[in-house]
Amino acid sequence: MELKSEYGLFIGGKWQKSSDGKTFEARNPANGALITVCAEATAADVDAAVTAAWQAFPEWKAKTNAERAVILNKIADVIDANAPLLASLESQDSGKPIREATIIDIPTTADQFRYYAGLIRGEEGAVTKVDANTMAIMVSEPLGVVGQIVPWNFPLMIGSWKLAPALAAGNCVVFKPSSSTSVTALVLADLLADILPAGVLNIITGAGDKAGQYILDHPGIKKLSFTGSTAVGYKVSEAAGKRLIPATLELGGKSPNIFFDDCNFEKAIDGVQLGILFNQGEVCAAGSRIFVQEGIYDKFLAALVKAFKKINVGNPAEFTTQMGAIVNEQQMNKVLGYIEIGKQEGAKVAVGGHRLTDGEFGKGFFIEPTLLEGTNDMRIAQEEIFGPVGVVIKFRTEEEVIAMANDSKYGLAGAVWTQDINKALRVAQAVESGRVWINSCSNVPAGIPFGGMKQSGIGREINKCALDHYRQIKSIEISTFESPLGFYPQD
Ligand code: NDP
Repeated sequence: MELKSEYGLFIGGKWQKSSDGKTFEARNPANGALITVCAEATAADVDAAVTAAWQAFPEWKAKTNAERAVILNKIADVIDANAPLLASLESQDSGKPIREATIIDIPTTADQFRYYAGLIRGEEGAVTKVDANTMAIMVSEPLGVVGQIVPWNFPLMIGSWKLAPALAAGNCVVFKPSSSTSVTALVLADLLADILPAGVLNIITGAGDKAGQYILDHPGIKKLSFTGSTAVGYKVSEAAGKRLIPATLELGGKSPNIFFDDCNFEKAIDGVQLGILFNQGEVCAAGSRIFVQEGIYDKFLAALVKAFKKINVGNPAEFTTQMGAIVNEQQMNKVLGYIEIGKQEGAKVAVGGHRLTDGEFGKGFFIEPTLLEGTNDMRIAQEEIFGPVGVVIKFRTEEEVIAMANDSKYGLAGAVWTQDINKALRVAQAVESGRVWINSCSNVPAGIPFGGMKQSGIGREINKCALDHYRQIKSIEISTFESPLGFYPQD
C-alpha cells in the first residue's frame, strides 16, 4: 500500500473530490514536511456519505453475526499486515514517537476488531417465559447510520473504539477524523475497500466546525459517537437532543495520580512519567494532577526532576525517542500559555517549562517535559492542558487527597499508588472517575470499560456494553393461548 499524494473523501466505496474542490494539507508537526493533501468536505458531501451508508445498510444489517465476525477479523489482519506503514504515518501525522505507535496504537487498534468479532460470534439470545402461555424474545437491531467523530491524539486507536462496535452491531458509519490527523483513517479506508461492502464505512475529512458540524446536524444520522473536548461535547449533545438520538461522549479529563508515602518508589517514578509524558501528555486520561504525600514529597520531586531531565525528546521517527512533537502550533501555544498561567498563579517550575527550538527542534513543535509545583485550586490543576505538563501537589492525609482528587469537574480516570491494599481499594472506590488504576496507569485494554463520570462524558467504550450503544432492543412477545384473551368478556 502506497501513500497517495492527495486523498479525496471515501464515499460509497469510492474516492471523490470535495464538491467545491477545497483541500487542506496534512503536515508533520515535528518538521513541517508535507505528508499528503486531504479533501475539505461540504454539507453536500456529508449528505452523499449518509445516503451511501443508508444504501449499504440493508445488506450489512442482514449479515449474520458469524459473517460480520469474519469480516472484523479480516480488518484486524489487514491492520496487522500493514502495521509498520500505519505506525509510521500515525507518528508522522501526530508527532507521537514511532515506538508508541508501533507497540501500542496499531496493535490495540487491530485488537478492538478481534474483540468485537469474538463478542458477536459468541453472543446468545434472550428469551423470557412471561407466564404459562406467553413468552418473549429479545432481539437487538442496529440503529442504522451512525456518525463518529474522533480527536487527533490517537486517531486510529480511538477510531477503532468506535468503528469496531458500530460495525459489529450491524450499523453503517460516517466517520470523521480530526483535520489535524486524517491520514491513517484515509489509508485504512483504502485497506478496507476490498473487505467491507461499499458504503458500510464512509470517511469524511475536514474541519470540525464545518464537516463535523454537518455530521452532527444531518437528519439521516441515527446516533452520534464523539471523542474530544468537553466544549465540543456540549455541541454534540445539543445536536443529539434536538433530534432525539443517542450520543456517546468521551470527553476531557484532569486525572489525579495519587502517590502515598508507602508506594513502591521506583515504580511510582515510572508511573508519573507514563501518566503525563506518554503521547506528549496529549492523553484524555493523563495523570496530570500528581498528588504526593508529604513524607516522600521532597525525595520524590527530586527523583522526578532527575527523571524528566533524562527523557529523550526528539525526532518521533527514531525508535529511541521517548517524547515527540505536539500535534500542531495552536496546541503547543495552548500548552505554553498554561505554563505561563501557572507561573502567574504562583506555581513553581520544578523542571522544564520551555519550548525546544535548538537545531532540528526549531522546525517543529516541541516542549520540555514539565512539572509545576502548585495547588489544586489553580487553573493549571483544574483545566485540561493536554501536553507534557504535570502539576505536583503535596498532601497530608488520605481524606484530604480524596477531597482534592474529587474537587474537579472532570471524572475520567485516576490512579493510586500504595503498598497497602486496603488503602488502595478505599481510595479507588472514593475517587469519582470512570477508571481507577492501582499501582499502574494509562493502560486501556479491550474488554475493560472506559469512559467518564461528571463532565468527562456519557457512556462506556471498549467493552461489550458499547455494542448496546449501537443497537436497540426489540421485544417480541408471543401468546400460545388459543382462546380469546378474555379482557373484554363477550356475552
Ligand atoms: P476537539 O473537541 O476540538 O475535537 C475533537 C473532534 O471533534 C475533531 O475531529 C474535531 O475536528 C471535531 N470537532 C470540532 N468542532 C466540532 C463541531 N463543532 N462539530 C463537530 N465536530 C467538531 O478536541 P481535540 O481534537 O482538540 O482533542 C483534544 C480533546 O479531546 C481533549 O479535551 C481531550 O481530553 C479529549 N479527548 C478525550 C478522550 C476520551 O476518551 N475521553 C480521548 C482523547 C481526547 P477538527 O479537529 O478537524 O476541528
